[in-house]
Amino acid sequence: MLTVGIDIGGTSVRAGVVDHTGSVLDIVRAATPGSRAALEEAITLAVGELSTRHKIAAVGLAVAGFVTADRLGVQFAPHLPWRQSPVAHRIEQRLGLPVVLEHDANAAAIAEYRYGAAHGSRITALIAIGTGIGGALLIGGDIYRGAYGVAPELGHLRVVPDGRPCPCGKRGCWERYCSGTALAATAVDLLASSPSSSTVLATYAASDPHQVTGRRVAAAARDGDMVACHAFAELARWLGEGLALVADVYDPELIIIGGGVSESAPLFLDDAREHYAAVMTGAGHRPLARIRTAQLGGDDAGIVGAAALARDAIT
Ligand SMILES: [Zn+2]
Repeated sequence: MLTVGIDIGGTSVRAGVVDHTGSVLDIVRAATPGSRAALEEAITLAVGELSTRHKIAAVGLAVAGFVTADRLGVQFAPHLPWRQSPVAHRIEQRLGLPVVLEHDANAAAIAEYRYGAAHGSRITALIAIGTGIGGALLIGGDIYRGAYGVAPELGHLRVVPDGRPCPCGKRGCWERYCSGTALAATAVDLLASSPSSSTVLATYAASDPHQVTGRRVAAAARDGDMVACHAFAELARWLGEGLALVADVYDPELIIIGGGVSESAPLFLDDAREHYAAVMTGAGHRPLARIRTAQLGGDDAGIVGAAALARDAIT
């Protein structure tokens, strides 16, 4: 039996056919549309295309946003057009298949527990760094959701009072300083403060600052570009700061860094570990959580986890 997991992020919609071992057999992707109707159409089209090649039994959606406590709707999603939306019901009507929802970081954490880096762990925090930050907490393999299904919304911990504005409505959220979006914003700020710096990113910024994307900053950093490397050093510092907060609240044994930005981990993870160890409460006098990257590939974990939950729902 095959199920489909769909990772619905602020940048892209990625749908994968997944088998019982957690292997992704086939994948399609599209840019995330800006309107609710277009987003639901994109999901329908993706499943339709996969259905031409595979027999699909159920669909799981991994959503970058607040999922309702019954996991059938989306309450709020800063990067998506859903507000108080009964998403599972509407997509079920379009597809004629059972549909389940899960917060994207929770889905990734479930995938890592069943098939990847968190297997057998007692207390694990997952930090998925992509367009924003998704957070999840696993206690003995179970997802911790809080009283109303919202916890842990780690990306919107405020780390800089009156800092960069965030689509969630606040300012200075952690993800504004530690995400793919943050890499681009930091690079644009660095270019503005030292316009004479020699960097490939200046060419993009000259035509339109939106042309400076996290992916372009990562590519430039791999080539040794000074501004891009500086942006990654800032991301590493903020990642270490945030992980120290996470460790103070949860005292996990394992922290998994996932999401698309984790594919660039060699550019920042050692620096982040060092900063984390230096700034945490009681530094040097307490055990440190292991910090490692996701095993399932930064972008696949949400798909695999959502597909596993869809399988659970029908078996
Ligand atoms: Zn925020």
